[in-house]
Amino acid sequence: MSHPASSNPSDNTKVVTRNGDTSAVGEEMLQLIHDLFPICRSITGSGVRESLEIIKRHLALEVREVPSGTRIFDWIVPKEWNIREAYVKDLTGRKIIDFQKSNLHVLNYSIPVCAKVSLKDLKEHLYTVPEQPDLIPYRTSYYKDNWGFCLSHNQFLTLQESEYDVFIDSSLQDGHLTYGEYFLKGETDSEVLISTHICHPSLANDNLSGIALAVFLARHLNQHSPRYSYRFLFTPGTIGSITWLSLNEAQTARIKHGLVLACVGDSGKITYKKSRRGDAEIDRAVIQVLKDTGAPYEVFDFSPYGYDERQFCSPGFNLPVGCFMRTPHGKFPEYHTSADDLELVRPESLTDSFAKCWAILDVLERNKTYFNLSPKCEPQLGRRGLYSQIGGQKDGKLQEFAMLWVLNLSDGKHSLLDIAERSNLVFALIHNAAQRLIEHGLLNEAAEPTRTEDFGA
Ligand SMILES: [Zn+2]
Repeated sequence: MSHPASSNPSDNTKVVTRNGDTSAVGEEMLQLIHDLFPICRSITGSGVRESLEIIKRHLALEVREVPSGTRIFDWIVPKEWNIREAYVKDLTGRKIIDFQKSNLHVLNYSIPVCAKVSLKDLKEHLYTVPEQPDLIPYRTSYYKDNWGFCLSHNQFLTLQESEYDVFIDSSLQDGHLTYGEYFLKGETDSEVLISTHICHPSLANDNLSGIALAVFLARHLNQHSPRYSYRFLFTPGTIGSITWLSLNEAQTARIKHGLVLACVGDSGKITYKKSRRGDAEIDRAVIQVLKDTGAPYEVFDFSPYGYDERQFCSPGFNLPVGCFMRTPHGKFPEYHTSADDLELVRPESLTDSFAKCWAILDVLERNKTYFNLSPKCEPQLGRRGLYSQIGGQKDGKLQEFAMLWVLNLSDGKHSLLDIAERSNLVFALIHNAAQRLIEHGLLNEAAEPTRTEDFGA
């Protein structure tokens, strides 16, 4: 990557674009979230296709279709679900629950139904959250044939003993599972995987924010010439990543680092869930960036519950893939309800998530291992103008510390990230020190065993 120099090496969030401008990114991401918000998505169907078409306006991704019935490890690609209309009418003919008003009103993957039912029978198909009585919950029934409606608990309490017309104009038929894939070839075949789910209906933070972040990271990578190749996956949760892994098993050996992106638009602090390995370079790079930026953050260990990191980190793959979030799923009160709306996602939070992810990719790109070419005692830095002539300048002292650390640990075995961790100095400072030492002929890049020739080119 060609790296824009930041005047303050400790401020990774400023290292964003060639001109250093991050302010517009969050607003642009929010615009994409607005465009995607009204669509009723699910794990299959036209909602996913329509969403990928909108994303295509920003990013030339490939849309892939996998037929229903395809065996993918222990799973089978399900039938394709589509929906046109759904409502509950009272005896006066008034629609009291209407899919057109909110696509959360229908149990996602509901089978078609057209019936007159009693209140008692209707209630068996109604879903509410009594603890949040004003909100419509988001519920799904992907793998069990069922139909249902979601509504606020307050509305539920007003339902009278009566007969109701229920109508769901949906279809569940052989079709396809659709996902999007974008590949950016870098200098090497080693890949960074960025994955996000695309299966939630009108929910902004849990789902659309992750999509927007992935799209804008890909767009910005396009303006650079990265060392790594980058693969972006826009797949329905769980079944989509299982499908991709099943169809691309041989490919996974190239994945050196990965992030699952979700819930990145709320105002909470950054949360990072480590890969199953726990000490992968991606885990260390994320922690380094979060530490360097100085803002509050939280890191927790891998658990087999969450987003698609569950599949990437299953024991048969054990890929170095962590999950980057702000407030984690289930930990913000609006999660999986109608309150996860366009008000919940903030442009400044989106900008911050973007800047931090960019800084993480930047660490991966710049994390190399070097040899000190003058390893017997310290080289004389003063003679080369590398030692501050005037004592007491804090900034100068830090740069000197960084150079001494880089010289001392650059024995071909310690990467710049190792040195940043060991010295407790920010990564950018260590990297800048290495650059200066290279310029003065004191450091040489160690051969990189992971670097391979162009694949098939
Ligand atoms: Zn979710």
